[in-house]
Amino acid sequence: MRHQKLYINTIGCQMNVYDSDRIARALEPGGYRQTDTLEEADLVIVNTCAIRAKAEQKAFSFIGRLARMKRQNPKLLIGVGGCVAQQEGEAILSRMPHVDLIFGTHAIPRLPRIVDQAKTRRIRVVDVEQSDEIDEIDLTAGFHSDGQVSRFVTIMQGCDNYCSYCVVPYVRGTEMSRHPDRILSEIETLVRNGVREVTLLGQNVNSYGRKEGLSSFAELLERVNGIEGLRRIRFTTSHPKDLSDDLMGAFGKLAKLCPHIHLPVQSGSDPVLKRMNRKYTRQVYLDRIERLRSIRPDIAVTSDFIVGFPGESREDFEATLTLVETVAFDSIFAFMYSDREIAPASHFKNKVNEDEIKARLQELLAAQETITLRNNRALVGTLQEIMVEGSSTRPGLAESIDAGPQWSGRTPGNKIVNFSPGRDLGSEETLQVGQMVAVRIEKAHAHSLRGELVRKEPSEGCPRGKECHAA
Ligand code: SF4
Repeated sequence: MRHQKLYINTIGCQMNVYDSDRIARALEPGGYRQTDTLEEADLVIVNTCAIRAKAEQKAFSFIGRLARMKRQNPKLLIGVGGCVAQQEGEAILSRMPHVDLIFGTHAIPRLPRIVDQAKTRRIRVVDVEQSDEIDEIDLTAGFHSDGQVSRFVTIMQGCDNYCSYCVVPYVRGTEMSRHPDRILSEIETLVRNGVREVTLLGQNVNSYGRKEGLSSFAELLERVNGIEGLRRIRFTTSHPKDLSDDLMGAFGKLAKLCPHIHLPVQSGSDPVLKRMNRKYTRQVYLDRIERLRSIRPDIAVTSDFIVGFPGESREDFEATLTLVETVAFDSIFAFMYSDREIAPASHFKNKVNEDEIKARLQELLAAQETITLRNNRALVGTLQEIMVEGSSTRPGLAESIDAGPQWSGRTPGNKIVNFSPGRDLGSEETLQVGQMVAVRIEKAHAHSLRGELVRKEPSEGCPRGKECHAA
């Protein structure tokens, strides 16, 4: 049987990256194999994101460009999934006559039937039904890591927080957690197949299991920490209001839990946080950061910001700038506020002028860049435990150093390090992807670090929780 070729265009967050994997897995038994070449596809799926207007425009622009392909090859099937599909449903069919199928965020397990109907009966199919049970697709059947040592594992879906600017609760449904045994079994299979690092995913992992009375997130982490062969655990995303003492304590207790937390704050101003319905204050956020740092002094902290939320005054924005300076984040993602029709904030008054939002965004990013560089410079001279991810592709790096290949990996705090082999690696020797090594940091840039390999086994050099200075 000739395999059908499946091309997936993934737009948006890690959750969508994970869902694209589930889409590919769901369609595999029907003979679909993924391709990176759009032109050879029999089925094109656009996995969309509705979180910001820009992501939605990007999806529609890509879908629009597929019309020409469809004219040239009428047998080509075009599907739209993800958050925009959930939000817009049938409306996409009238707007885009060349689209064959629309499937929502809960319809991935039903995708084989949806595709089959569209293909054999030549009908246009829409399935945006939301379910009240978490859907499970076995992502590990026949899994081969293909050299990938780091994987996402979703532990929950949906969200109950209803932040006033956000569409997630409407397009991904209410919060549901997977059973811990299924999560454990998925990670164990990944590890048996070469994976060394997992990132546990959810819209708000801190409330994992609470509704269902399953274990808490801290308890889940403890079980994952016990998996033999796994080297590193990360997670995202955390809501500050649900960051429990147990979870903060896990950073001081669990050897495999990387000292990095992504803790979106969104604004440094209490009135703005209130209108965003975030349910914490600036002070609560600062207290949590202080507590985390008392438990794990080397913890890297990153965050998300929305700039120009309706009614954000200059004074509110300055409160954001002072928060950034006080916390001294390792890095941030900052976005311009954009109206999302189904989110309550789209009806708020006192919208900030777009030019002002752009100017504030630039100001915030510039302030953070200085802080990131300062934090990175503080690492120069330290030894860092790096998990090798592959050869370094940074332009100009190879020419700047005479000897051998260059490598790249990440610190426990999730900073990218490009490094040269150093004297410890003989000319015939090579490093393996997934191997842990000790690297001395020699130079800091705004978005990465440069270093030299010191040892192929980092254990003595990088005692946990202490600063790890080179001898
Ligand atoms: S916590 Fe708020 S921002 Fe995050 S997904 Fe839920 S509603 Fe959206």
